[in-house]
Amino acid sequence: MELLVATGNAHKLIELAPLFPGHVLRRPADIGHPGFDVVEDGDSYIANALLKAEALFALTGRPSLADDSGLSVRALGGAPGIFSARYGSEDGMRKLESAERNALLLANTSRFADRRCAFVCALALVLDSERAFVLQESCPGELLRSPRGDGGFGYDPIVFLPELGKSVAELSQDEKNLVSHRGRAGRRMALLLADLEAQP
Ligand code: IMP
Repeated sequence: MELLVATGNAHKLIELAPLFPGHVLRRPADIGHPGFDVVEDGDSYIANALLKAEALFALTGRPSLADDSGLSVRALGGAPGIFSARYGSEDGMRKLESAERNALLLANTSRFADRRCAFVCALALVLDSERAFVLQESCPGELLRSPRGDGGFGYDPIVFLPELGKSVAELSQDEKNLVSHRGRAGRRMALLLADLEAQP
């Protein structure tokens, strides 16, 4: 099936594509909508993912998939959470680079012994105006005290996975997809797609 993916984040598409073998993933820009953008004003990952998938379906009339994701830190009551992309870049302020955002989060959590955190990924699939599916998965880890590794993107260098003994940024793309929030969510969505194709 051809799926439009409501994202401008190239990293997300690189990670999502191998999770959907047998399907073709395209960005709005690939089909003539380079300016596609949605105000993410939902109050949860699921609400934002659905908002993006519904907006892309409304624009194109084609099956649309959206990811909303972020990092929830236990000691911060779940922040930055759905505001992960904008953390430290409040209205009117310059948008921070990933490394600056990571440094800020480490500074803001330095006094906490509780380092538990989790990457979270909600995926929404809108097939038509009556059919939509949403799910959410996570990847628990621990906040490091300083960044490690240079793979991945975003908060990957500051999240440690104790069972692998590595930060997420020290994993190859395939290793990351095996354990990540997006990998887990994507595989479950791919199973759902297979089921839908078997029993439309
Ligand atoms: P979204 O576009 O609102 O879903 O923004 C998600 C933000 O969460 C990204 O900009 C990253 O800062 C962070 N994030 C989501 N997934 C990951 C990941 O797999 N690794 C590192 N950071 C991530």
